[in-house]
Amino acid sequence: MYRLLKQEGRAKRGELVTVHGTVQTPVFMNVGTVAAIKGAVSTGDLEQIKTQVQLSNTYHLHVRPGDKIVKQLGGLHKFMSWDKPILTDSGGFQVFSLSTLRKIKEEGVYFNSHIDGRKIFMGPEESMQIQSNLASTIAMAFDECAPAKAERGYVENSVARTTRWLERCKTEMSRLNGLADTINKKQLLFGINQGAIYADIRIEHAKRIRELDLDGYAVGGLAVGETHEEMYHILDETVPYLPADKPTYLMGVGTPANILEGVERGIDFFDCVYPSRNGRHGHLYTNQGKINLFNAKFELDDRPIEEGCGCPACSRYSRAYIRHLLKAKEMLGMRLCVLHNLYFYNTMMEEIRDSLDRGEFSSYKKAKLEGMSRPAE
Ligand SMILES: [Zn+2]
Repeated sequence: MYRLLKQEGRAKRGELVTVHGTVQTPVFMNVGTVAAIKGAVSTGDLEQIKTQVQLSNTYHLHVRPGDKIVKQLGGLHKFMSWDKPILTDSGGFQVFSLSTLRKIKEEGVYFNSHIDGRKIFMGPEESMQIQSNLASTIAMAFDECAPAKAERGYVENSVARTTRWLERCKTEMSRLNGLADTINKKQLLFGINQGAIYADIRIEHAKRIRELDLDGYAVGGLAVGETHEEMYHILDETVPYLPADKPTYLMGVGTPANILEGVERGIDFFDCVYPSRNGRHGHLYTNQGKINLFNAKFELDDRPIEEGCGCPACSRYSRAYIRHLLKAKEMLGMRLCVLHNLYFYNTMMEEIRDSLDRGEFSSYKKAKLEGMSRPAE
């Protein structure tokens, strides 16, 4: 159940109560693609860096180790030893982005595995069954994420099919939640708004899917090649047509600035691989902008990545040491950088929530953006 605690303009401060605990929103979900965050980050680490929700990818877990195996082992929570909320995506995005030789039909998508090339079929029912086997807290509806530059006619057909798929997802989810051997019988279902960069298609779709009275609503198909301005415009147009008393989720977004802009437009949930991916390459977020630890000027820098940061990297180690680890290709270097970046994101979300509680989000946002746009030392 979602409670809208406070609003400042369109920005929402809320909480989502689930069987795996309560999520304070706005929140950034930390992306653990194959049930682990890349960079040797353990679930014990996640507790230290203020992670509220972990996100895993259905397609990857279906291919390896297989969702039936995860179910036999008690579901994803038990498998990875994490008792807080987990969101699984539908698998659709990976089917459309990773696989070759895919064929979209009314019943679903036929494609080849990116690991061993074997033929796989996935439709709305299969996606729900896999996510039910994984027993995540929140399941995402199976949809088609049309390319940002797709032609209008294509997008219209695609969105109509995504709506029909969503209805099938809802039916299948309630059937699965009623089965005796289902691990999480309270699994939540979020629907996904699509429509590329056509605001009118997005609005019609939002109106249509809110009638289904789902547990939450995502805006999908953004951050796939359109400009930031186009993305903000779509959010301005579309989010007002999604119910304010349900959680909203902007999929795959983004930079700290994108997140601040998303919160302002009424988004509760975010996820993105940037903090972990950038961390693995020594690119670190600070309140004074991004720094690249491979830069020679950090060779003798005995300060932490960021003064005052409480993350496991900054509370013990210097920039010079972590830089040395990265250059020596020691796994610890990558791990510390990922932990710092995720802590930075999770802390920013905490600051956003605090500022909303105080009714000062707008001034917080302005100050944060100014700080981060200064050239880093
Ligand atoms: Zn830090």
